[in-house]
Amino acid sequence: MAFDVDALRKDFPILGRTLASGAPLVYLDSGATTQKPLAVLDAERDFYLTRNAAVHRGAHQLAGEATEAYEDARHTVARFIGAADDEVVFTKNTTEGINLVAYALGNAGRIGPGDRIVVTEMEHHANLVPWQQLAERTGATLDWFGLTDDGRLDLTRIDELLDERTRVLAVTHQSNVLGTLNPVRELADRAHAFGTLVVVDGAQSVPHRPVDVRRLGADFLAFSGHKMLGPNGIGVLWGRADLLGELPPFLTGGSMIEIVEMDRTTFLPPPQRFEAGVPMTAQAVGLAAAVDYLERLGMAEVAAYEETLTARALELLAEVPGVRVVGPADAADRGSAVSFTVDGVHPHDVGQVLDDRGVAVRVGHHCARPIVRRYGIPATTRASFYVYNTPAEVDALVEGVRAAQRFFAR
Ligand code: PMP
Repeated sequence: MAFDVDALRKDFPILGRTLASGAPLVYLDSGATTQKPLAVLDAERDFYLTRNAAVHRGAHQLAGEATEAYEDARHTVARFIGAADDEVVFTKNTTEGINLVAYALGNAGRIGPGDRIVVTEMEHHANLVPWQQLAERTGATLDWFGLTDDGRLDLTRIDELLDERTRVLAVTHQSNVLGTLNPVRELADRAHAFGTLVVVDGAQSVPHRPVDVRRLGADFLAFSGHKMLGPNGIGVLWGRADLLGELPPFLTGGSMIEIVEMDRTTFLPPPQRFEAGVPMTAQAVGLAAAVDYLERLGMAEVAAYEETLTARALELLAEVPGVRVVGPADAADRGSAVSFTVDGVHPHDVGQVLDDRGVAVRVGHHCARPIVRRYGIPATTRASFYVYNTPAEVDALVEGVRAAQRFFAR
């Protein structure tokens, strides 16, 4: 193990909680949101205690210091993903980042009747519904890559789906339900041959593995701070500088304008053009602290450690009769979201038994309803691991699943 998990857990006081049932908390729901280390909480608090002011305005020292903190945070995030500072737009979350791109492309008139938008059947609703809506508004058609039985993209229709009519390919880098890691680079190279823009949902990849935007080969990448040890209410949209420069704004108002007349307005260049209103400054500072924390651990080490937990979960769950993991079976080429069904026990009941034992998982369709439909199941139970989870917690999960089986077999 490249880092000391027992020592690391001390940075997350919430992990020491005992629940109403008397059981200690086993938090296996980081795919939904992660816990925050003291360093992140301290960074936000310190900002409010010492430097709080509205950024990019104000002639006073405090406003200057707040602006510096905000722009330093942008620089930290940009460095983390191998981007230039002005390619990093702060948003509320992944959802807002994807909506920003979809609306801006629509407003720019870059999508029209007869054009095609391609998504996949494993998208989170955040990377599906905005494209459905854009297709509806513009008269474009929406099509998608289906899934194979083992939870990967079915690429057999690739020549049909990616051609000169395809304006946008929107794809998740790592599935929040199946754990699947998608071949974004290959897809992007194919798509770019036809001038197709590639929008990647990085909500589940950026927190868990090294992601370098140049190597990824996409045009846009959206992710959320709260899924990578950072605060709620801050997300990132990375876009290629030339593309951001060509796009009109999504939200309009203060902070993003150049000159306003009564009947017309000109806009600042990116990233300010896409950051209307007073931004989430303390949250950006907190996100930078989260990035520093992850960089101290090392993203390659984070990915390797999570892989050991995922491998353990897959191996132990495979030994439980009646448990079926939905998604790739090999921990080496997937992420740490492990979804499964238990024969004869509804996922909500599995979740309830686990909760009684202090094990926090998620049950349902995980905001990706087409996936559960594709596999003909009502819902799944999903455990998702992060840097602060231990092998013993994986064992507690599997023990809890066995307990649910015993309870409902009676
Ligand atoms: N995409 C994926 C793959 C996700 O897992 C999530 C969060 N569950 C989102 C998008 C949406 O993230 P947010 O709610 O932070 O916008």
